[in-house]
Amino acid sequence: EDAHVSQPELKVEDVYIAVKTTGRFHKTRLALLLETWISRTKYLFLISLSLSPGYNMVVTDCQSDHSQQALSCKMSAEYDGFMASNKRWFCHVDDDNYVNPEALLSLLSAFPQEGDIYVGKPSLDKPITAHELLEGNATREVQFWFATGGAGFCLSRRLAEKMAPWASGSQFMRTSAKIRLPDDCTVGFIVEKRLGISMVHCPLFHSHLENLLLIGQRSIPQQVTLSYGIFENKMNSIEVKGSFSKEDDPSRFVSRNIHS
Ligand code: UDP
Ligand code: MN
Repeated sequence: EDAHVSQPELKVEDVYIAVKTTGRFHKTRLALLLETWISRTKYLFLISLSLSPGYNMVVTDCQSDHSQQALSCKMSAEYDGFMASNKRWFCHVDDDNYVNPEALLSLLSAFPQEGDIYVGKPSLDKPITAHELLEGNATREVQFWFATGGAGFCLSRRLAEKMAPWASGSQFMRTSAKIRLPDDCTVGFIVEKRLGISMVHCPLFHSHLENLLLIGQRSIPQQVTLSYGIFENKMNSIEVKGSFSKEDDPSRFVSRNIHS
C-alpha cells in the first residue's frame, strides 16, 4: 500500500498511445476512432503517412504497404516518439482498435511503476519459434512469447529504455530483419530474448483474430482494447446493444462509446 501512496496517480496523459495508421484508412478507420474513443482521450500520437490536423501526428517516411519492413518501420517511429516524450508508459494500438482509457489506466496502475513491464495478449497459445540470423549465414532457433500488435500492448518506460540497444533508431529494423518477423514479434524477441524479461499475458486486449462475440456484454467496460474486422467473410465485432444498427455501426464502436 505504501508504494501506492508514494506514487502519483497514473493519468491518461502519462501514457503515450500510438495508433498505427496509413493514408488510405484515414477517412474510414481513423475517422471512426476520432469520433469515438480518441475524442475522450486527448493525449495520443498517430503514426501515419499523411497529415490530419488537431492531433499529434508523426509522419513517417515508411513504405505504405503491409510488408514486414513497412510495419517495423512504423513501430520504430512509435518507439522513438515515445522515447523522445516524457510519458511513463508506451502503448501501441492499430487503427481498428477501440481503447478504453479507464480500463487501460486501471491495468497499468496495478503494476509497479518502476518495473520492467511488457503486457499484452499472446496471439498464439505457445511461444513462437524464430530462426535468428547469426554471423556468416548461420541461424539459431529461438522461442519467445509476443503480444499481438492487432490487440495492442504496453511497455513501461524503464523496460523501453533497456530495449534501446535493439530498438532505437535504425536498430529496430535491423533486429526485425535478423528474425525475419513482423514488428510485434520483434518487440517480444527484444524483451524476452535480448533482455530475458517475461511478457505479462493479459486477457483484456482483443484483436479481430479472436471471436469478439465471446466477450460478455457486461464485461465490455473492463476490456482494455476491442477490435473489429472481416473474419471468414463475416463481420467479427463485439455484441453491444445500442441505438445504432449493425448496418450503421458495423464495428459497434459508436454504440460502445455511448455507453461509457
Ligand atoms: N497498416 C499500415 N500500412 C499498410 C497497411 C496497414 O500502416 O499499408 C496498418 C493499419 O493501419 C493497421 C495495421 O497496420 O493499424 C494492421 O493492418 P490491418 O488491420 O489492415 O491488417 P491485419 O494485420 O489486422 O489483417
Ligand atoms: Mn486489423
